[in-house]
Amino acid sequence: MNRFFLLADRLEKEHRLAPEEYRYLLDHRTAETAEYLAGKARAVRERVYGRDVYIRGLIEISNICKNDCFYCGIRRSNHRCRRYRLTEEEILSCCAEGYALGFRTFVLQGGEDPYFTDAVLCPLIGKIKASCPGCAVTLSLGERSKASYQALRDAGADRYLLRHETADQAHYERLHPAEMSYENRMRCLEDLRAAGYQVGCGFMVGSPGQTPENIVADLKFIEGFAPEMCGIGPFIPHNATPFADFPAGSFRLTLFLLSLLRLIHPGLLLPATTALGTIHPRGRELGILAGANVVMPNLSPVSVRKKYELYNNKLCTGEESAQSLVDLARRMEEIGYRVVTARGDAVKFNEKVEVDQHETL
Ligand code: SAH
Repeated sequence: MNRFFLLADRLEKEHRLAPEEYRYLLDHRTAETAEYLAGKARAVRERVYGRDVYIRGLIEISNICKNDCFYCGIRRSNHRCRRYRLTEEEILSCCAEGYALGFRTFVLQGGEDPYFTDAVLCPLIGKIKASCPGCAVTLSLGERSKASYQALRDAGADRYLLRHETADQAHYERLHPAEMSYENRMRCLEDLRAAGYQVGCGFMVGSPGQTPENIVADLKFIEGFAPEMCGIGPFIPHNATPFADFPAGSFRLTLFLLSLLRLIHPGLLLPATTALGTIHPRGRELGILAGANVVMPNLSPVSVRKKYELYNNKLCTGEESAQSLVDLARRMEEIGYRVVTARGDAVKFNEKVEVDQHETL
């Protein structure tokens, strides 16, 4: 067990470990070692970001998807899914509502809906940037061509979230139909980087077939790719997918991995995800206490929220955005953190450790 603490201390200083060393940490996860790691992760996060929690307004623009990922509730083969697509007016009105509440980042997420061509998205991004001065636009719209990523970036998009899902090719193939490829996923991440985005990758914890070696591969990939953002959350089954009967991923393992990621990249923007909040009533709070520093409240119109059902029982209060923000701010205050309205770009660790004072919400 001594070795666990030595390795954790070294990870904190050097921000990297050998695969076998990550494996050792994973194999020696106990309540005690997890708390040791979380304590370190909190200290590191506080040095870089203080106790500020950044909020991102999530707008689920469409649940229409041409892909058929085995884990996902909005896959094209799920004929029970009631499909919707927000209009430009609806999206802009979600942004306006969020802006008035203090949101300075809007995340446009959706299935791979062919309707959202560059010709549709570029003017929309321009309108969001013009009507919400100083905001950041994050896209999470799946795999696109290099030219498309560049066009959207040129139109003003700042960040792009595209989880790699797993850094192991065979495992990737277990999670996706043959028409999708690990190679293309990785190509997309490289193209996003080249286009000048702040890039987010990430993976599900406990997805079917995931082994400890796969998780080590994910950690090594993230260590090397050095994304600005990283989204991880437990896999949660959806009853109308081929993975309906698989168990959900481990809540505690997810927290443990959040702590490891914080030590690997101190300046990482690391959300306590909706999936984490779904499998545990205090999931988001415990995620923050494990080293996360971002939460992504839902700004989608209340009428469509239930339809963006990636997995069963997805956290979705019927509340208006304003009310859920008040609730979230209170939850964060209760654990000694504060929700801030700053744009919250990634801090390049080593370049800037002092952070500005932000307006408290
Ligand atoms: N079409 C976009 C957005 C996908 S939804 C894209 O491809 O990036 C965002 C993330 O939700 C996915 O990347 C996946 O990691 C996660 N997700 C999907 N189904 C899930 C499930 N059943 N359990 C947990 N997370 C899931």
